[in-house]
Amino acid sequence: MNAIWIKDPMAILADGAERGVVAGDGKIVELVAKGAQPKTNAAAFEAGAHVVLPGLINTHHHFFQTLTRAVPAALDRELFPWLKALYPIWARMTPEALDLAMTAAMAELMLSGCTTTTDHHYVFPAGLEHGLDIEVAAAQRLGLRALLTRGSMNLSERDGGLPPDSVVQDEDAILADSKRVVDRYHERGEAAMVQIALAPCSPFSVTTSLMRETAALADRLDVRMHTHLAETEDENRFCESLYKCRPLDYLEDCGWLSGRVWLAHGVHFSAPEMPRLAKAGVSISHCPCSNQALASGGCPVCELEAAGVHIGLGVDGSASNDASNLMQEVRAAFMLQRGRYGVNKLSHKDALRWATKGSAACVGRPELGEIAVGKRADLALFKLDELRFSGHGDPIAALVLCGAHRADRVMVNGNWTVVDGAIPDFDLADLMRRHQAAARRLHG
Ligand SMILES: [Zn+2]
Repeated sequence: MNAIWIKDPMAILADGAERGVVAGDGKIVELVAKGAQPKTNAAAFEAGAHVVLPGLINTHHHFFQTLTRAVPAALDRELFPWLKALYPIWARMTPEALDLAMTAAMAELMLSGCTTTTDHHYVFPAGLEHGLDIEVAAAQRLGLRALLTRGSMNLSERDGGLPPDSVVQDEDAILADSKRVVDRYHERGEAAMVQIALAPCSPFSVTTSLMRETAALADRLDVRMHTHLAETEDENRFCESLYKCRPLDYLEDCGWLSGRVWLAHGVHFSAPEMPRLAKAGVSISHCPCSNQALASGGCPVCELEAAGVHIGLGVDGSASNDASNLMQEVRAAFMLQRGRYGVNKLSHKDALRWATKGSAACVGRPELGEIAVGKRADLALFKLDELRFSGHGDPIAALVLCGAHRADRVMVNGNWTVVDGAIPDFDLADLMRRHQAAARRLHG
């Protein structure tokens, strides 16, 4: 076994690991306590300048939206008009542009300390039917652990939905491709690097039939399910008008109150709805920046957790955040929720917990999100050598409070994916040049 000892860190988010952690065979094999030596024969990585966290896990994103950050037509709009401004632009994406968008999103996440990400890819215009294949290849090139979701939309304006015809597919095509990508790419087991989930986009862009058939297919294939829910008051009104019920009732009616499910946003759940989510084992991806940018509201994290619902963290798509920086999202979550709940109900450690252990529950991977023996060796190491940290006391609190935004080292499955603040063998400047050019062409 080629083991590595992350030795004598400045600080580490784990109990009984003052002298660091030993990784081998892709797992954490040992925590080294104060005054102890590793029992495993391991090469030392001197971590005296590093604060060590469990790798951060991003539970909601739309990578393709990195091509449409800060688009003038979508500025200063709430969700529905914001989507209507962007759908026609997304419909013009090419396979090359999509590849650049996905690569850019994942690179940005990795450099912010992310070791596992999800992506909700739901736009499949003509010519981009193989979006998931492009995405899997990009994740594998970068070495990022990924739970990629085969999203879908089949309820267009013509049938009372929000999106135009140009970005929807029919139900048979969606279900056939969903099965194809699960059969082809979904890995099982604790070391899995690529997994697939099924993810109809939202109540206002998908038919009831597709919601139900997707749930049945996910059961048959034994994969997770994801969608947007309880994001805005507009969505509540849409469900009341079309389905004569609230979004959660609609979800239940579609067979979606299941432990396979994690939901993006969860802003507008009522108090009686929260225990229903908990009982079913549904978890929530909290997306604080997106919710603030679109003025959607704020997720009631403390009430949800008190009811027994797991809370993870997501950056959401890069047209509503508009960044893909997960460490900054930890700070945003802390600030938003501290303002809401006060100093006694939550601390910076809660925000870090959402981005790690809470997010691991969202993606259904209990082997991730913690620095403990037997968990996967997914770690994020930060230095406190920028002006913003100068004068700090508690190093872990400093990451959140001073605004850490770039990891110095990141490890996935025991392999370094970020070294000295960069992705090895990866030309970031070239990617940015091509990505910006693709975005310009798309905006028209
Ligand atoms: Zn979203």
